[in-house]
Amino acid sequence: MSVERLLVIRYSALGDVVLATSVIEPLRRRFPGARIEWVTSHAAAPLLEGLPGIAAVHRLGRSGEDGPRALARRLRGRFDVAIDLQEKVKSRYLALVAAPRRLLYRRRTRWQALCALFGRDLPLQRAHATALYAEVLRPLGVEKPGRPAIAIPAAARDRARALLAGSSRPLVGVAPGATWATKRWAPERFAAVADALHEAGHGLVLVAGPGDAATVAAFRAALRSPLHADLTPLPVDALAAALAELKLLIACDSGPVHLASAQGIPALVLFGPTSTVRWAPPPPGRALSLGLACQPCSNHGGERCPLGHHDCLQHLEVEAVLVAARELLA
Ligand code: SF4
Repeated sequence: MSVERLLVIRYSALGDVVLATSVIEPLRRRFPGARIEWVTSHAAAPLLEGLPGIAAVHRLGRSGEDGPRALARRLRGRFDVAIDLQEKVKSRYLALVAAPRRLLYRRRTRWQALCALFGRDLPLQRAHATALYAEVLRPLGVEKPGRPAIAIPAAARDRARALLAGSSRPLVGVAPGATWATKRWAPERFAAVADALHEAGHGLVLVAGPGDAATVAAFRAALRSPLHADLTPLPVDALAAALAELKLLIACDSGPVHLASAQGIPALVLFGPTSTVRWAPPPPGRALSLGLACQPCSNHGGERCPLGHHDCLQHLEVEAVLVAARELLA
């Protein structure tokens, strides 16, 4: 099969884009001479633009020069194969105009899609997200996923190193935020873990995004130890660069986990409603879950526990997290 130009489409969310980069390595092996281009968001683009496996990154915006129509004009007919890993109307449109042959990612079986249509989004836990992306490539003769990878611009690395400079302690990142309430472990418990690790000789780095303000405020109010650094105001490339300087990241199931894991930094991830099978960090990271009968109950988490008690994270004790953290740090 002759494939000279491939287009991959995945533009959100940030963690999913990072996981989707696991297709680059096997595609490169299968088609060593092919040119691979990628459509992604403005937010994720800095992490892909320096990757050696990608020849060009196309930024997809909402409208104007980088909107779907303008981008479609630039991509039209330029590729042999378009690989749509996003599974949205916009991504299908771009794939349709870009190449005569298209491979589409399908998260759900027909039954699951039907249930989702009627408001019952069954948790998908057949395989890890990277394996699901690799399945899309099977018609091209690719069987296994590679490892996710990101590129860090030199300026972002310099900025992160400057921010983290001056600590004689090994640094542990604590990321108490997550988009959905049911994915969050109590910020006060994160603070208790952070205090214990600080007492044991580690420096503390707060990892959070602009949407985590309330969680961060509660975490800071409960924390007794000094923070070495707060990464909240950093853009995504500098945040990723800072995560590369950590010895361990402790987090809910959220985007920073994938940024750290893609750089080989161990992430200890506290799982509640989402699937460890689908989202667990690769070794040396670890998924911590109570394994209740109701877990997982959701694909992305929600605002309320469907059973009303949120036991999956309410019953996850500080000591269990500390034991796992100490093992990973050792
Ligand atoms: S306790 Fe069970 S049902 Fe409730 S959010 Fe957690 S996993 Fe879902």
